[in-house]
Amino acid sequence: MQRYLTHPTKRPGSPVNREPRFSLPSRALLNLFSPGGARSRLSILIYHRVLPQSDPLFPAECDAQRFDAEMGWLKACFSVIPLSDAVRGLRKGKLPPRAACVTFDDGYADNAEVALPILQKYGIPVTVFVAANFLDGGRMWNDTVIELIRGAPGDSLDLAGIDFGKFEIGTIPQRRHAISRLLNKLKYLSMESRQAMVDAMSAIIPVVPSRALMMTSGQVRTLHNAGMEIGGHTVNHPILARMEKDAAYAEIGNGKEILEGIIRAPVRLFAYPNGKPGRDYLADHVEMVKNLGFDAAVSTAGGAATTGSDLYQLPRFTPWDRGQVRFTLRMVQNMLRTVERV
Ligand SMILES: [Zn+2]
Repeated sequence: MQRYLTHPTKRPGSPVNREPRFSLPSRALLNLFSPGGARSRLSILIYHRVLPQSDPLFPAECDAQRFDAEMGWLKACFSVIPLSDAVRGLRKGKLPPRAACVTFDDGYADNAEVALPILQKYGIPVTVFVAANFLDGGRMWNDTVIELIRGAPGDSLDLAGIDFGKFEIGTIPQRRHAISRLLNKLKYLSMESRQAMVDAMSAIIPVVPSRALMMTSGQVRTLHNAGMEIGGHTVNHPILARMEKDAAYAEIGNGKEILEGIIRAPVRLFAYPNGKPGRDYLADHVEMVKNLGFDAAVSTAGGAATTGSDLYQLPRFTPWDRGQVRFTLRMVQNMLRTVERV
């Protein structure tokens, strides 16, 4: 039923109308909180992956069917605009009513393979923040851990030899729990120690993870040529707050340069890796992003942006509810949140 309401065009013989039945009351509600102009609120959504089908190991991860529904709701109730236009709008106090932007982080191949056709169907522009070093066969450390545990043979896994202890992995929930524990142990180690631990795990677990999780350079160009914005997300996706200043500056600047070489166009938007103000990035990094010539940057602090927002720390969030009414209410709730910054 939800699907039917979202996609009335799929009903044989019905007139062409992409707008779900709830769009008018939803728009009226949203207009109260985001009326356009100087009093408007900008909602910036953040996505990572859009899987072709639901993943039994991570059923909450966004898949094609859910993404299609969410883009339908968004298109029906919001003015979805490119992030660079929204930044100009914030600067001039001239946002459209119910302004929203869609962004992706990291540079997963499914953004080009699965999300792009859905975005084109609805005419939704997005910004894709790409960590440059993982293009063309690379893989982020967290995905290596996930794929190792997903494919590990047997019902238990002994990582005591590298001080990680033993894990029961006989069932899907046990594997999910093992992944979560390992990711938490590794997340805030230095890049070098983390890679050493992941390499040690790879040597113990007889699994060869896929090299096709992230985009190729060609896919980055495909997105760019389709009118999607490409944004910087560093080279190696480090936690900037845990690095020396020079190394952080190089991560941000080199990531921009690599992407500009691929798309042969300026990269003007940036997303801080992990993105929590004061924990993952600090005031120094905001200055670096300004000095490197970016026009704006996004964090992962929740809330909506307004004309008074810091353009170099724009908030983003992910509505997680299933169903259009709950999705819209979550967007409203997010608009009323106070925005954190460093
Ligand atoms: Zn990221």
